[in-house]
Amino acid sequence: MKSRALGLLSGGLDSSLAALLLQEQGIEVKGLYFNTGFCLVEAAQRVPRRGAPRAVHHGERFASAFEIPMEIVDIRDEYLQRVLRHPKHGYGSGFNPCIDCRIFMLTRAREIMEREGWDFIFTGEVLGQRPMTQMPRTMKLIERSAGLEGRIVRPLCAKGLPPTPAEIEGKVDRERLLDLSGRRRIRQMELARRFGLTDYPTPSGGCCFLTDPHLKWRFLDLVRHRPIDDIPYRDFFLLKFGRHFRLSPAAKLIVGREESENEFLMERGEGFVLIRPESRTGPLALLDPAAGEADLDAALGLMAAYCAQDPGEAVTFSVVRPGGEAVERAARPDPEGLEKRRIAKETVWKRKN
Ligand code: SF4
Repeated sequence: MKSRALGLLSGGLDSSLAALLLQEQGIEVKGLYFNTGFCLVEAAQRVPRRGAPRAVHHGERFASAFEIPMEIVDIRDEYLQRVLRHPKHGYGSGFNPCIDCRIFMLTRAREIMEREGWDFIFTGEVLGQRPMTQMPRTMKLIERSAGLEGRIVRPLCAKGLPPTPAEIEGKVDRERLLDLSGRRRIRQMELARRFGLTDYPTPSGGCCFLTDPHLKWRFLDLVRHRPIDDIPYRDFFLLKFGRHFRLSPAAKLIVGREESENEFLMERGEGFVLIRPESRTGPLALLDPAAGEADLDAALGLMAAYCAQDPGEAVTFSVVRPGGEAVERAARPDPEGLEKRRIAKETVWKRKN
């Protein structure tokens, strides 16, 4: 009888190749894509960069090109609650809780495997490729914590690992699996050519934007000023977009960097104070609703620095409070504030010490 394998399929090169190596052996393969809400493609689709081609979900495209059924599992709420806010194993170089994330996804995959009767789970992992999750000890820890000890087949590096029961029982031919290790992707690219796989994201791109080390400072600033359990998904998602400024413990300002970000901030602006220049063209910004008058003055000074054509010019803004109440306010530019208040490594570090 045909073996059946259920895998984590992000659409990245490695997980795609893992699926193809099994499919090539005649194994029935299905992919799972877990949507955490922080996927890079989703972010690019919501806020397209000017002139950039439309972002596509490679997982779906790959699955349809190679006739592999794929299920998208929305885990956003649980992920926020159980993984992002309190990761038992901590964060990586960004605010990526990769170990807890893998445990969570693999636990969900195991539940689906057991419910639907798949023989084993596969992943596109490569020994030693990602320092946080693909070292032998961590791989073991993740697999044990997900209740999958010995039940994960890793087609790209299986030969560098002890044989799994699926390999011993002949559900998968170990001889046709690989022994890849390390960060270089030359062999993966050769293999992709052999399979006719040409459409995949840049191999080192990562699968979600939580790994972005620049966002770590915004994340630290956010959790330092509010209990993490009170921070909604939207505020974590917003860390990716715009320029961020800390005005006071209660108030933060997010300023759009380009047209698509302005539109996005406007869409997501419910509950924030919305600031829009009236007498000049310039960016749109969101201000925390708890901001006081001094915060609003500071915010307008920063916004005026982006809009004014000369240093002394007063710029008029429309300020819309939650509930729709709008006022007009004028402000003079505060160019020094731009660096002093920007949320970045230097400013967050200084405030800590
Ligand atoms: S990069 Fe993002 S999606 Fe991938 S394991 Fe880490 S936290 Fe999870």
